[in-house]
Amino acid sequence: VVVATGLRRTFGAATVLNGVDLVVGRGEVVALLGSSGSGKSTLLRILAGLDAEADGEVTTNGRVAVVFQEHRLMPWKRVADNVALGLRGADVPERTAAALAEVGLAERTRAWPAELSGGQSQRVAVARALVRQPDLLLLDEPFGALDALTRLKMQALLQRLRLEHGFAALLVTHDVDEALLLADRILILDNGVIAQDVPVTLAHPRAHDRPGFSELRRHL
Ligand code: ATP
Ligand code: MG
Repeated sequence: VVVATGLRRTFGAATVLNGVDLVVGRGEVVALLGSSGSGKSTLLRILAGLDAEADGEVTTNGRVAVVFQEHRLMPWKRVADNVALGLRGADVPERTAAALAEVGLAERTRAWPAELSGGQSQRVAVARALVRQPDLLLLDEPFGALDALTRLKMQALLQRLRLEHGFAALLVTHDVDEALLLADRILILDNGVIAQDVPVTLAHPRAHDRPGFSELRRHL
């Protein structure tokens, strides 16, 4: 769904991306790891078409939706209006309600963002992405600010949604367990390039194969 070649981005004298090539295939979930400041968010913004200053080529095939680390909900709009933002069509209310139901917030459509917990706000952000029926979901540390249990619930939610919708995703995360759990492939961004491209195979101790995880998930 996305092919990027030769991405370069400098800020003043600093070269943050220095020839990044990457491909995310249809339905594939790829995790992007890299130390703080390595350029992950910069790369995500370029892929999302939000950075006009970058060099290189990005070809996307289909719709792209982004979930940022902070939920970025508009405080003056109700939950449903945040999800429906910018959409047009007679079916928008119905699609909005369906997306909110999918993330378990059917009851909160009329709530204000300030009335939600961090995890609920992030679920609204996921619904806002889902309602756009993306072929590619770009996720920038979407669960980084959440507590461990809420993060587990969100990971399970993302896995379920992926199976139902079949979207591809590029997931920026600092959490190796999360990458092993959710991704088919892990990329390491280092020194401005993709330094490693590692498939996640059954040889890896996937978190969801660990004793206790399915037990826990039954309660989510
Ligand atoms: P983190 O894991 O902390 O989120 P990151 O890998 O997402 O880090 P980026 O936010 O992409 O890192 O930033 C990469 C580098 O680019 C940093 O050194 C940052 O200071 C610089 N940078 C990013 N955006 C800008 C900007 N608008 N102006 C100047 N420098 C920037
Ligand atoms: Mg970042």
